[in-house]
Amino acid sequence: MFSLEDLGWGPFFREQTAQLNTEDPSTTAIVALGTGFYPMRVAEEQRSVYVLWGEAGAFDATLPGRWLHEAEGRDQLPAVGDWVLARPLPGEDRAVIEQLLGRRTALSRKAAGVRTNEQIIAANVDLIFVVASLNRELNLRRIERYLAVAWETGATPVLVLNKADLAEDGDALLREVHDVAPGVEAIETSAVTGEGIEALNIALKYGQTAVFIGSSGVGKSSLVNRLLGNEAQAVSHIRSDDKGRHTTTSRQMLVAPGGAVIIDTPGIRELQLWDAGEGLGQAFSEVETLAAGCAFRDCTHTSEPGCAIMGALRAGELDRRRLESYRKLEREQQFIESKKDDRLRSEQKKKWKQIHVDNRRRMKMRGR
Ligand code: GDP
Ligand code: ZN
Repeated sequence: MFSLEDLGWGPFFREQTAQLNTEDPSTTAIVALGTGFYPMRVAEEQRSVYVLWGEAGAFDATLPGRWLHEAEGRDQLPAVGDWVLARPLPGEDRAVIEQLLGRRTALSRKAAGVRTNEQIIAANVDLIFVVASLNRELNLRRIERYLAVAWETGATPVLVLNKADLAEDGDALLREVHDVAPGVEAIETSAVTGEGIEALNIALKYGQTAVFIGSSGVGKSSLVNRLLGNEAQAVSHIRSDDKGRHTTTSRQMLVAPGGAVIIDTPGIRELQLWDAGEGLGQAFSEVETLAAGCAFRDCTHTSEPGCAIMGALRAGELDRRRLESYRKLEREQQFIESKKDDRLRSEQKKKWKQIHVDNRRRMKMRGR
């Protein structure tokens, strides 16, 4: 059985429930007694069917129908890693989700399609392990993208350079990686020999929540398996009723030996159109620092006098490829933003239409 702290509960969430708490703000149990709601964490999600974990164990949960109806976007629905307040149904292993607590961080992606809609992949994540393989497949440009996305979530990225056993010139590769990952801790691992697994374990501290992202085939599943070993605790395995549905395709929480929560997100750990936003600036901090030194504030770094970026390129202090990836990601970001704006505009339009209809109705009533 887990305590709420085991599952990553802390002041950020407790404070959100404080107004519901009539007696003692320091204990979550009172919140529950006072209102019938218990704080629980979404441990598994499969098409709006959830498994929740709380102090009382595991519950299958659904959302009240009105919620699905009223949600304006998918980001308003609970996702794996979210904290919710839920009401257990008497005498059953089922609960109803009553309230979604605000997220500290969120790993999200823009769902494909006409509507730009944010899908939360994992909520309340502290660490994002960006996995790459230290062999000829190593792709620095991809690492940059993953890091930009990771920074954007609000979590801390950690680089995991896997397949160290296959690295031919490891040191040279490490230097290259270092240059595209300013300020990011890097851990070399091998899921085959076990090198670096201990270091990974140390980085996965109690009370923290982590996800693994990276291209297909770099070894994410192997690393997670190696980390968890026989102590793997798929949430579905430790349900109180021991129904033990083991599903490998859904997103779910696992608990590492050191106590950290790992959110496993098979199938969607690869990068598609992920929102990099502000994270771009952190992933390319040296480019942004240089740009701050340009003579013109709106410098496009193409032909302006006093351009610090062009200066650094000439002096060999900035790699041209680094600037190119920065530009490319910036363009992608602008594309996503423009899609978002389209959606906002159409929602605004809908709203105005509704107000218009309401006004007409009111006028009619008055006219009667
Ligand atoms: P994922 O798609 O990122 O989850 O990658 P997998 O964990 O499925 O691994 C892809 C392939 O790489 C599998 O054949 C693994 O056995 C292999 N692999 C994973 N980690 C390592 C490693 O550290 N060294 C070597 N040599 N192979 C590895
Ligand atoms: Zn410039």
